[in-house]
Amino acid sequence: MTFQDLNLNTPLYNAIEDLGFETPTPIQAEAFNVIASGKDVVGIAQTGTGKTFAYMLPILRHLKFSKQENPRVLVLVPTRELVVQVVSEIEKMSKYINNRVLGVYGGTNINTQKQAVAQGLDIIVATPGRLYDLAVSRVLQLKSIQKLVIDEVDVMLDLGFRHQLMNIFDILPPRRQNIMFSATMTKDVDELITDFFINPMKISIAVSGTPLENIKQERYDVPNFYTKVNLLEHLLHDKDEFSKVLIFVAFKKMADRLFDKLEELFPNESCVIHSNKTQNYRLRSIEQFREGEHRLLVATDVMARGLDIEGVSHVINFDTPDYPENYMHRIGRTGRAEKEGHSILFSTGAEQEARERIEALMQMPITIQVMADDVEISKELIEEERPQIKEHYNPTKQREDDVPGPAFHEKKEKNQKENLGGSYRREIAKKYKKPKTRGDKNYNRRNKKK
Ligand code: AMP
Repeated sequence: MTFQDLNLNTPLYNAIEDLGFETPTPIQAEAFNVIASGKDVVGIAQTGTGKTFAYMLPILRHLKFSKQENPRVLVLVPTRELVVQVVSEIEKMSKYINNRVLGVYGGTNINTQKQAVAQGLDIIVATPGRLYDLAVSRVLQLKSIQKLVIDEVDVMLDLGFRHQLMNIFDILPPRRQNIMFSATMTKDVDELITDFFINPMKISIAVSGTPLENIKQERYDVPNFYTKVNLLEHLLHDKDEFSKVLIFVAFKKMADRLFDKLEELFPNESCVIHSNKTQNYRLRSIEQFREGEHRLLVATDVMARGLDIEGVSHVINFDTPDYPENYMHRIGRTGRAEKEGHSILFSTGAEQEARERIEALMQMPITIQVMADDVEISKELIEEERPQIKEHYNPTKQREDDVPGPAFHEKKEKNQKENLGGSYRREIAKKYKKPKTRGDKNYNRRNKKK
């Protein structure tokens, strides 16, 4: 199939030609007519398959020029980085179309965004929280939304955005087309579809869990963190081969720890993103990596979901993710848009079960490699790897934190005082032993007589 087979128009053909795309990707070919038909659509596709264009091409094809201020297309994505990326993709496609696209996300000045909204727009790309705030402030009117796209729905639900999505659904016009894309079909995603979609058409180009065929996958058994660092160092010395490397770790702390090590080993070649870093820092890191200023990017799973960075030579799974789906998302960052990619997985003894789960999901083994002889095996262990000292069972000894806490209905200490009213009177009474009130003439008289 070629782009000529899709019912596009000249401005879109020209933009596609400028981008140098030759043929539609499978999800683009499959989604075009279904989305153009106006029906609700659920697409299962991993990032890197060209899914952003898959939903945007038919939308842009049928979005008529308008001067009205309220947006007609709403695209919801889970992270701020994705807002930036999706806006940039839409802008590329809209090179010869006169439309107004705006990206909004939390963590930045809402007033600047309010001003931008007030200028009028056609397409808004947003994270759910900020979108809702803008809608509640009434600056953003959603009454003209005709198409709602929710991208990376599975991550959105993993991040706990379900409630926010419900709130947004409530304020959207009921007559609209819903389009949803998810990399995996989880139970939560399925529930959302059943509750809010009307007979959606399902399109899917890869069964969830199928690795992209053009990714070469290898793995190493590595005993601990510091040996992993040594192996990583050994691999990364080959700068021609390892030219753009995305390194995944599970936790923020580990990301910082590894970043510090890499800074020592390869100064000024790496950057890091995780949710504790500021928005500017994160965007800068991604940009530096994208532009090739920095060769190495250390990232946590959530931060890197959906990120599209061209030409990632290798994805290194510095740890073995507990959830096999995360492995699928990680390796999807390389071998994008039909280029060959490489993925390398490091697993300690404790991580072997997780590795087996990944292989079971993919229904294929990952090729094992043996570490080169000059990779030093470290004996040093990080805090998390040291054996936990367990106390022997001693029923007579009750530890402080074993004592049961108060029942949930018991009041906290500061709330236990009863409100007796007249606190001033009680204070005075305490001081003078007997009630003493200014107006109690009888009391005063009685006391005088004595
Ligand atoms: P996505 O899955 O939407 O994140 O897209 C992955 C990458 O593929 C993006 O960098 C797109 O610019 C690129 N891309 C999208 N469609 C095509 C196509 N038909 N041919 C080549 N590259 C594409």
